[in-house]
Amino acid sequence: MHSKIKELLQFGTVDTPVEIKGWIRTKRINKQVVFLTINDGSCQQNIQVVMAPSELPKELLSQLMTGASVVVSGRLVASQGSKQAVELYGNHLTLLGNAPDYPLQPKAHSLEFLRTCMHLRFRTNTFGAVFRIRHAISYAIHHFFHERGFCYLHTPIITAADAEGAGELFRVTSLDIPPKNPDGTIDFSGDFFHKSTNLTVSGQLAAEAAAMGLGAVYTFGPAFRAENSNTTRHLAEFWMVEPEVAFNNLDDNIALAEALLKFLLDYVLKKCPEELDFLHQRLLSHTNAQDETGTMPLLERLQFVLEQPFARITYTEAIALLMDAPPNKQGRFVYPVTGWGMDLQSEHERYLVEHHFKRPVVVTDYPKAIKAFYMRQNDDGKTVAAMDVLFPGVGEIIGGSQREERIEYLQAAMQHNQIEDLNWYLDTRRFGTIPHSGFGLGLDRFVLFVTGMENIRDVIPFPRTPGHVAC
Ligand code: ATP
Ligand code: MN
Repeated sequence: MHSKIKELLQFGTVDTPVEIKGWIRTKRINKQVVFLTINDGSCQQNIQVVMAPSELPKELLSQLMTGASVVVSGRLVASQGSKQAVELYGNHLTLLGNAPDYPLQPKAHSLEFLRTCMHLRFRTNTFGAVFRIRHAISYAIHHFFHERGFCYLHTPIITAADAEGAGELFRVTSLDIPPKNPDGTIDFSGDFFHKSTNLTVSGQLAAEAAAMGLGAVYTFGPAFRAENSNTTRHLAEFWMVEPEVAFNNLDDNIALAEALLKFLLDYVLKKCPEELDFLHQRLLSHTNAQDETGTMPLLERLQFVLEQPFARITYTEAIALLMDAPPNKQGRFVYPVTGWGMDLQSEHERYLVEHHFKRPVVVTDYPKAIKAFYMRQNDDGKTVAAMDVLFPGVGEIIGGSQREERIEYLQAAMQHNQIEDLNWYLDTRRFGTIPHSGFGLGLDRFVLFVTGMENIRDVIPFPRTPGHVAC
């Protein structure tokens, strides 16, 4: 039985015989010794293997190269030089697979280069750290909701509903070329579902129906949006966490969002110290520690967000603040803030977070015209009980609301937004309607924040963006 490198580095006892399996990261050879560093993905660290060249056949020696896979047995010894407590004195090595012309060298490659060979990225320190952190966050999400009595709900991937009413849909069809009706519209009657279907943009509507019986539910799955935003914050396929809670109002919803984000941060800080430390150092060496935004080093930033209460501001207050903000007056925003009613752009969100409040900000009560139809109308008749949580570096990380539980308001909003075909959804309001709230947390954007990576393509294994679907 072979051991995981993580276990050997943490708990291995000196002088015990062990076997490891992994990939060579680096090799150094001189007349007396061969040094190999081996990684098996179980942790950030490599284990150092020390062997006498005489124990390795000549032709094998030349095949030990970065990227090759090996099995090494030997005994653990207290390490002399290296950072680790133990290393492995090997007495037997088997080559599983060699790696001639392996594109990754034992040096830091640019993230752009690594995006051209995504299937190999998993073998680098940076992506090992990112994906172990992504895993830890995913696990902690289930933990958080499970402990609070939420039911994990699997909402459909193929749906007939457009939850946002905003287009951006990927159509699902089994037809080669769907025929057209005489009036030019597409005839779906011969299609698999006999109607128009698409990949889900959000599980929310289904989650609302479930919350009407289960009380508190959450979804955690992929969402698909054909938005042509080629930004560092958008993917065509991303992962979203959507809690939906019966009887919660907007304040409860904000409190749940803040508790979730802080729980996740705390969890990663405790469970992934080596990964975070690696990414922290990586950022320090890649950026001027104090660039013009005064960005904190990664670990400080995470700790800071964990400890600060989130700021809260209404949309109306935010617009007034932004109108008066120096970058707006000096024309430094790409999208000038002209007045009430406009949507906030990422640069405005980041100004609020990074320059004004210097901590996460929850913006509430947006104009109803720029938000989805299901959000609860406020008494002013102009705004809705919406909440966006904005994070440093990332901008919007959560979008949510208290839902419109009054059927006549909901029907009016649906008519206004030309949303049809949601009769089943109206039943949630026809039968025992209640106040309720929920939100969507973009997992990928949260991983972006936690890892300090700058492009959302670098926190998901195989990113899908306009024009790009490698692998
Ligand atoms: P944005 O304005 O940034 O496009 P949105 O208003 O469309 O976001 P919501 O519909 O509220 O976002 O979705 C909830 C959350 O899902 C967002 O706060 C964000 O974290 C995430 N999200 C939305 N669209 C994407 C996307 N294309 N790629 C990655 N994450 C996304
Ligand atoms: Mn969007």
